[in-house]
Amino acid sequence: MEVHHVDLTISAVAEEQYPKTDYPEIALVGRSNVGKSSLTNVLINRKNFAHTSSQPGKTQTLNFYNVEDQLFFVDVPGYGYAKVSKKQREKFGKMIETYLTTRPQLKGVIELVDARHAPSDDDVAMYQWLKYYQVPLLVVGTKIDKVKPSARTKSISQITKTLGMTDTPLQLFSAETKFGKDEVWQWIEARMHD
Ligand code: GDP
Repeated sequence: MEVHHVDLTISAVAEEQYPKTDYPEIALVGRSNVGKSSLTNVLINRKNFAHTSSQPGKTQTLNFYNVEDQLFFVDVPGYGYAKVSKKQREKFGKMIETYLTTRPQLKGVIELVDARHAPSDDDVAMYQWLKYYQVPLLVVGTKIDKVKPSARTKSISQITKTLGMTDTPLQLFSAETKFGKDEVWQWIEARMHD
């Protein structure tokens, strides 16, 4: 999709604030620092629109980005957040779970993992949870520019094996070189029109 117009419609802290439109929504999940803002910026052709997270997890909101009045990217805050109380975390976790399992507009989820390392226990837990609820899923291995070309096959098998992927698509990605951008968009567009 050629993107010219994007705005942050709402940083929601409660369900009543979610957009009332029926545009398809694509959620992005992954732990803090995995490259979620960077991926979003590449997809929408902006340098610094979605803010790269200097204070991971401080603001716990679901951020709805309106793209061309055609879809929303929904930024789901990184898991493994440290700076909030257990109670806050539980409350917010519940909101995310409800969003991911019951929102009719949600057409797919992109789970980001760092392609330089094996997925973390949190990554595995998130993956299995999404599979359990049969959410259409794309796994994106980020920061692939930091992985030598000769090590990429190993990176793919490490992600595939650690997550226990069988039929889920995996796309390597770099916000630096934009490697994988077109493929991620193709997956999103297929989900939008499904
Ligand atoms: P978020 O917390 O998931 O939103 O992560 P950010 O997008 O803020 O990225 C965290 C850090 O990783 C920043 O310093 C980014 O510049 C860096 N980063 C993100 N994506 C890439 C990538 O594809 N390649 C490289 N080399 N660095 C990246």
